Amino acid sequence: MNFEKYIRDINDFPKKGIVFKDITPLLGDAKAFEACADHLSSLVHTPIDKVVAIESRGFFFGGIIAQKLNAGFVPVRKKGKLPYDVLEVTYELEYGKDVLQIHKDAIQKGEKVVIHDDILATGGTAKAVCELVESLGGEIIQCNFIAILEFLKGREKIEYPIKSLLSY
Ligand code: IMP
Repeated sequence: MNFEKYIRDINDFPKKGIVFKDITPLLGDAKAFEACADHLSSLVHTPIDKVVAIESRGFFFGGIIAQKLNAGFVPVRKKGKLPYDVLEVTYELEYGKDVLQIHKDAIQKGEKVVIHDDILATGGTAKAVCELVESLGGEIIQCNFIAILEFLKGREKIEYPIKSLLSY
């Protein structure tokens, strides 16, 4: 399936000069949504224990990928959203600074983990999530995205295998 036609460019969002990749047309089409979930799951070739997905656009497919791979689902959320004991990391965004948190008991030492988000841009977010997973003792098998914005060089920040359906 040509997923590219379900992802549209929005100029000057969330601020002037940014071209935002909007995946909502992909989410809104039943066949494209299903095919995308299948493809994202098929990028993983070894058994895993957990899919860690990033708030909020990582959640659309994260849970489905986890279910298809017979793995548990772990949400990484913005500060203040998770109710139990958390580990946190401060990171640089394309558009500023932020804090991400994970539950301390979400991953056991040695568990095999796939990290999923919709878009890899500068790589700051994914790198921060890698640090959280490493701190809990998880073994990161790969980072998995719908699309990579190659011109922002996010790959250079991530020391694990990176897989995606699309590259721009
Ligand atoms: P990074 O930290 O710069 O790699 O940015 C990645 C994070 O920002 C991900 O959680 C994405 O959801 C979000 N993001 C950055 N650029 C875009 C975009 O063009 N479309 C959708 N999400 C984006």
